[in-house]
Amino acid sequence: ALNNEHENFAVYDSEFSEGIQRSNELTDNLRHALTNNELFLVYQPQLDIQENKVTGIETLVRWKHDGHIVSPVDFIPLAEQSGLIVSIGEWILTQACQFAKQLVRLGYNDIIVAVNVSPRQFSHPQFCAMVRQVLKDVALAPRNLELEITEGVFMHNEENTLSVLQQLKTMGLHLSIDDFGTGYSSLSYLKRFPIDKLKIDQSFIRECHNNDEDKAIISTIVSLGKSLGLSLIAEGVEELVHVDFLKELQCDEIQGYWFSRPVEPEALIELLIEKGGD
Ligand code: C2E
Ligand code: CA
Ligand code: CA
Ligand code: CA
Repeated sequence: ALNNEHENFAVYDSEFSEGIQRSNELTDNLRHALTNNELFLVYQPQLDIQENKVTGIETLVRWKHDGHIVSPVDFIPLAEQSGLIVSIGEWILTQACQFAKQLVRLGYNDIIVAVNVSPRQFSHPQFCAMVRQVLKDVALAPRNLELEITEGVFMHNEENTLSVLQQLKTMGLHLSIDDFGTGYSSLSYLKRFPIDKLKIDQSFIRECHNNDEDKAIISTIVSLGKSLGLSLIAEGVEELVHVDFLKELQCDEIQGYWFSRPVEPEALIELLIEKGGD
């Protein structure tokens, strides 16, 4: 038994260091991803289910490296740890705002383009100034931009978080809480922070058609959000039964494969022409 334990430990140890080596390598490559033009953005539409039209889109980053697409689930954490997220995040925001501007020029004046902001990016001292500068450079109205933050940002440095959110809100952009319901923070931040929208996490949606607990959680989030005057969007909506359930609850919007996967900008424009904002 002792021998076995040793062996297990050794195997675990070498896998562990291989993992670290791999992520160091990946981080080095990520450092050049921007200058090598390896990053690109896809956009997933958000459908208003009461009006049956596209009112928003979420920006999702992709990395084409060595002929493969690396998932953001794998490289965003590396970008966070290494600090690269600051420059990558600025690039993403700029591209997304340029795309939003293009949509406004096409006549979709009320479109809202959402961009994910990771905690390290959010807590950077120049974050607000950067957002303001990008909006100015692109000449995009702040009301066409939404920033998605996760509950994690409420857990450290509350005072700074509050001040940053207030500045962003004063600028006139929209703020949403991503992956709502999966964080460990208290709900009290909802009354203190200037939030517009809750994004119900996809883990509650996925199996909700045969799970009463998921249904109970979703309907509780919807009524909580509504009584606080927030708008609600469900993520990861894949099935018609999900759509029907969410419509019945009067959830405002849905996002997920049922309506559309994330697509490249040209395809998103096609989709808007068919099922557009205005
Ligand atoms: P997220 O912000 O929660 O984004 C939603 C994820 O769910 C996306 O994965 C999207 O492609 C996927 N998804 C959408 N609809 C469905 C569905 O119906 N079923 C299923 N199974 N999945 C669906 P993606 O693009 O791989 O992104 C994963 C995560 O990586 C994002 O989760 C976000 O945390 C992060 N991420 C992606 N793009 C960015 C970015 O530009 N900046 C930052 N900071 N993080 C990003
Ligand atoms: Ca929206
Ligand atoms: Ca998101
Ligand atoms: Ca999410």
